[in-house]
Amino acid sequence: MPLSQDRVPAAQDLHIHTTFSTGDGAIVPQQTVGLVASIGHARVVGISDHIEYVYGEAFPAYRDEVRAHGLRLGTEVTDYRMLDDALALDVDYYVFHCEHRAECYRGAEALLSTGKPVIIAHPLVLGTDLERVPPQCLIEINNRYVWRNDWRSRLGPYVSRFRFVLGSDAHQPHWLNQSIARHVADELGIEETLLFA
Ligand SMILES: [Zn+2]
Ligand SMILES: [Zn+2]
Repeated sequence: MPLSQDRVPAAQDLHIHTTFSTGDGAIVPQQTVGLVASIGHARVVGISDHIEYVYGEAFPAYRDEVRAHGLRLGTEVTDYRMLDDALALDVDYYVFHCEHRAECYRGAEALLSTGKPVIIAHPLVLGTDLERVPPQCLIEINNRYVWRNDWRSRLGPYVSRFRFVLGSDAHQPHWLNQSIARHVADELGIEETLLFA
């Protein structure tokens, strides 16, 4: 199916990194919250910087900057050992690295207990066993990574079990698109779940 989404804003993009992820070498200095907000590539935009850079003392500045631009506030929990820190943060949603280990499947349950949406980040590159992921979680079709794996055989069996979201995982302005993720969703017959009206 050819791509035909030129200039049509995505409905939602909740997986975006900015200069708040200070130690992430893929981030360019221009990838500020303000720049992302100004582009308008999606109708609902959320920022999900890596928790190790935005928790604790760093959190208020991060929160205030994202909120000041009217964007949704998230964080990407890249390490299950930071789950307690994640649970303490006043965010709108979580993007979670669910590695294939018991601590992570339990961690997904713990994050769900907050009542906030929990997005399972790029499960195909983390070895996540979707059989063990709580069905209340949302599964991400990640534009940066999904093409690197056999998404048809690995996501296909779960189309009716989970709700799905599309994410750019943008670290630079020109990554702010979901062309591959949209193609995969179309091919699998997945309708994206919108988390925030
Ligand atoms: Zn990630
Ligand atoms: Zn990410």
